[in-house]
Amino acid sequence: MKTKTRKLLPKTTDEITNGGLYIQRVRCGKRNCKCSRGEMHPAYYFFTRRNGKFIKFYVRKADIAAFFELVNLASIERAERRQSTRSSGELLKQLRESVREYELMTKLHKQNYKYEKS
Ligand SMILES: [Zn+2]
Repeated sequence: MKTKTRKLLPKTTDEITNGGLYIQRVRCGKRNCKCSRGEMHPAYYFFTRRNGKFIKFYVRKADIAAFFELVNLASIERAERRQSTRSSGELLKQLRESVREYELMTKLHKQNYKYEKS
């Protein structure tokens, strides 16, 4: 099962509970373009997990700066929430979980998004 790409980006920090931004190099398909000579175009995606499913959002060039800020803000809000409600032991557990998640997503990214549901 391939991860579906969605075009409608999350608009509030509440919609961003995990995940991160990733860059993929792509070819546009035009024969005389620089990408046909190996100079690929960067394409930006936001990866997140909802209800155990991976979701990939395409981030348009015009949206990158604003969206990146929103992602950052969401992670700050999450950290603040954790700090105020959880003990340091749980904080560490959370941190390990997000590292694992990041590693998984990086692996996914390298596999060119071919995610098989286990
Ligand atoms: Zn091109």
